[in-house]
Amino acid sequence: MREPCVPGLFSEENGASLLGARCRCCGTPYFPTPSHCRSPDCAGSDLEPQAFSGGGVLWSYSVANFPPPPPHQFDAPFKPYVIGVVDLDQGLRVVGQMIGAAADMRVGARVDLVIDPIYHEDGKAFTSWKFRLA
Ligand SMILES: [Zn+2]
Repeated sequence: MREPCVPGLFSEENGASLLGARCRCCGTPYFPTPSHCRSPDCAGSDLEPQAFSGGGVLWSYSVANFPPPPPHQFDAPFKPYVIGVVDLDQGLRVVGQMIGAAADMRVGARVDLVIDPIYHEDGKAFTSWKFRLA
């Protein structure tokens, strides 16, 4: 059984997607959805929901060698993992956990958005968005 870590941020229907928004005035993409457009060049506050999905490019990455602080949870024993910054083809730059070893990561590599467990509890897999090398 799978359950999102945080409800309402992403979907697994018709493939993985992040539930964000885009400014109707200037087109700036957002995830998660803010209360108003944050672009200094835009006075707009009219955001429309947008689901961001598909592939992107690994812009940068780092390795988390220590457990995340509460309230984040993880499966014990802690294993270091890669955190990536990805430019989705749909125009959103987003941070996410990478599936795979740091030695396999390359800046500029194609990646795909996926929904994957980040920890298990009471027989449930709690999921979040991640990226996997394409
Ligand atoms: Zn705007």
